[in-house]
Amino acid sequence: MRYRQLGKTGLWVSAIGFGGIPIQRVDNNTAIQLVNRALNLGINFFDTARGYTDSEAKLGLVLRERQQEAIIATKSMARSREEMARDIEKSLQALGTEYIDLYQVHNVEHPSVLERVLNPGGAVDALLDAKKSGVIKHIGITSHIKELFKDALKTGVFETIQLPFNPLESDGIPEILDLAAAHGAGVIIMKPLAGGAIKHAALALQYILEYPVSTVIPGMDSLQQVEENASVGSRSENLTPAERDKLDREIQEQGATFCRRCGYCQPCPQGIDIPLVFLLDGYYTRYGLTAWAKERYRGMKVQPDACTECKECEDKCPYNLPINQMLVEARARLE
Ligand code: SF4
Ligand code: SF4
Repeated sequence: MRYRQLGKTGLWVSAIGFGGIPIQRVDNNTAIQLVNRALNLGINFFDTARGYTDSEAKLGLVLRERQQEAIIATKSMARSREEMARDIEKSLQALGTEYIDLYQVHNVEHPSVLERVLNPGGAVDALLDAKKSGVIKHIGITSHIKELFKDALKTGVFETIQLPFNPLESDGIPEILDLAAAHGAGVIIMKPLAGGAIKHAALALQYILEYPVSTVIPGMDSLQQVEENASVGSRSENLTPAERDKLDREIQEQGATFCRRCGYCQPCPQGIDIPLVFLLDGYYTRYGLTAWAKERYRGMKVQPDACTECKECEDKCPYNLPINQMLVEARARLE
């Protein structure tokens, strides 16, 4: 396994880390096997979240016993000091550890949210308190909005950034990586397989690792996946031209109906959150989180059946996605 420095945290993380979303789907015994196997293969970075139901608890079954070998990262959607303080406590209890290496402000979706967490009484206050007392070691931030990292990193609070990057979603990545390097921030790459859309997993992971990122965290829920992913972390040569062609062909095919969540189709005159529908559909079809996706879908402010088929969204989508048809298909699954 290759190891890379996680920015100025001084931690050395495995090039392939363990993404903690899919472990929600397996039972405790399988979770124990997966985490032990990952550690034995040299994977030392484990990323989970308060919001991933029992993921922290399942990782904790092993990591509390083998914490010396692991770097544990988790995150919370809490925005206020009180909520964040409560969530840090809950994470520690679920993991069963005395400290957490990296605690991230999860999914900062708008500049106003960044302001809120940084303001007095915001979530960052609780993270700084926890860092002072030693129960967390480092503070990070995760977001899908690349522009937001510029302001976030300027504050000097965040030592790592976590963002989506894969061969289908690579716009603006070199700029972000330059920015992170300028601030000494570690870079954690989520959604490396575009939420399961990319089938040539090993090629996609290698593609990402050819950029100056710290670690890539594919989700894993089988021993085979753990072993295949870990082997990419040990690979020393770049993609061959034939491998690159293979990946390019897949990207061309998948790209025709894959929503990158860029938001350019918004606002919809009816108020439909189009990227959210496709995100939930992805959780339904690719992660198998069917009940969760349906519940979130039902909770949407405007239901997609309000669509008048005006096609304004399709005119604005830079990837020319057939949004109307995709909405019809997503609704058939999620309603
Ligand atoms: S086609 Fe439907 S989803 Fe697209 S902008 Fe019009 S109303 Fe909104
Ligand atoms: S513009 Fe296209 S790719 Fe971007 S969020 Fe909307 S549907 Fe997805």
